[in-house]
Amino acid sequence: MTIHVIGAGVTGLSFAKASKDEVTILESCERIGGKALSYKVETSVGTFGFDVGGHWFHYQSTPAVLDILQGLDLKAHTRKAFVYLHERFFKFPIQQSYIWHPDEKFVGNVKKELQLANSDHEYTNYEDMLQQSYGLTLYESFFKDYNSKMYGIHDLSEIGVGRFETIRNVRTNTNVTGYNGDFLYPQGDTGAGGIPLFLADHLQINYNKKVTSINIKNKTMIINNATVSWDTIVSTMPLNSLVGMVKDVDDHILALSKQLKFSKGMILNLGVKKTRLQGDMSWVYFPDPHLHFYRVGFYSNVESSLAPLGYCSMYVECSPLFFGNKEEALALVPTIIKELIEIGFIHHADEIVTTKAIYLDHNYCLPDTSKTKVIHHYLESAGIYSIGRYGSWHWSSQHEDMQQAWDLANKLALRDLSNSQKMRTKVILSL
Ligand SMILES: Cc1cc2nc3c(=O)[nH]c(=O)nc-3n(C[C@H](O)[C@H](O)[C@H](O)COP(=O)(O)OP(=O)(O)OC[C@H]3O[C@@H](n4cnc5c(N)ncnc54)[C@H](O)[C@@H]3O)c2cc1C
Repeated sequence: MTIHVIGAGVTGLSFAKASKDEVTILESCERIGGKALSYKVETSVGTFGFDVGGHWFHYQSTPAVLDILQGLDLKAHTRKAFVYLHERFFKFPIQQSYIWHPDEKFVGNVKKELQLANSDHEYTNYEDMLQQSYGLTLYESFFKDYNSKMYGIHDLSEIGVGRFETIRNVRTNTNVTGYNGDFLYPQGDTGAGGIPLFLADHLQINYNKKVTSINIKNKTMIINNATVSWDTIVSTMPLNSLVGMVKDVDDHILALSKQLKFSKGMILNLGVKKTRLQGDMSWVYFPDPHLHFYRVGFYSNVESSLAPLGYCSMYVECSPLFFGNKEEALALVPTIIKELIEIGFIHHADEIVTTKAIYLDHNYCLPDTSKTKVIHHYLESAGIYSIGRYGSWHWSSQHEDMQQAWDLANKLALRDLSNSQKMRTKVILSL
């Protein structure tokens, strides 16, 4: 049996690597990696390396995925992250560093509220989870605006909790490092793209093969105008796009998929002269509702070969609260650069060597398991498995996507084994 895998990002590649079946990988682009790709820019001062925003490998909740990456040169790093609050940098996580805030009333309130935080509470939505976990003072000063800017949604009670809390232990843990205190990153100048490159080794990828339509009843799909038969599909494209592509889909499923919420994104990559303020920071969170970005990070502070000596390769994650489409997003670039200069991450516009803005149609999928469970069940009963951050419709990271791919490959192998045993029993009985 051949399994058609849609997408050669980390999820599709991990599935193909783990699968015991024959696999055909279809990738609409001419390169692998999906969101986890990297690129280089040659300039007069040397070579800069960039990813699509920080792609740090946080493996703690799924250590088994490291087996898949055995042989890849991954270096461990300790997170040096900060929160820029009230014009000061506080070490992340803020629920520990708030004690350095100069306002005693603020410190007293946060302390009191953190002591009252209710760990047994059943959260009804994302806003509830943040308020119950951190108290109202930290919620109002950091979590509310930061999360709204990141997910592009003002009312956080519209977001489900999903599996966020159990996976990431974002609560008021006293553990200094928190859930992502250490992370891995490929050593050398490959950037995060070194991971998909490693996964793709020995796999045959069919590039420029875009799936444009799927038919469940006939079990056919259209790839670049050609009709192809399929038996099982593993899709990593966004779930709403996948459902929209199924020509004979149930109206109810289509209606559910149209209700799924997600954010668009824009990453602004910059190669700039190194400033003192950049120091050795990994990344910084920005809750200030007036700033047009929610996070800024520094690739070359983690892997120095990603920028020439005396320079830095950095990324800015821009908030979708300020744009509705690509044109509007790109128009924000000069304002964002001005804000970076005001903060001190860049001294002067003349010190910017290279910039690239990357617009993302899908950045964060806002989990809504009451709908996605129904959609996934429908698709799976037709032989279509939708996995990965965009396929499962969750805010997962690479390691969780890889684990999901690995688990599915094993599940399908068991299914095939049990089918072939049933066939054998049938043959024996009919003899
Ligand atoms: C800005 C940003 C920052 C992130 N930071 C981190 C981080 O620090 N750490 C971390 O672990 N994760 C991070 N992530 C998440 C990480 O990128 C994803 O978890 C992971 O890349 C998802 O991989 P995927 O293969 O499921 O999907 P994708 O990477 O989206 O790959 C899907 C592939 O399918 C292809 N495709 C789509 N439609 C079709 C079609 N119709 N036909 C054929 N091919 C198709 C696409 O071209 C693409 O190659 C970040 C993501 C973003 C956007």
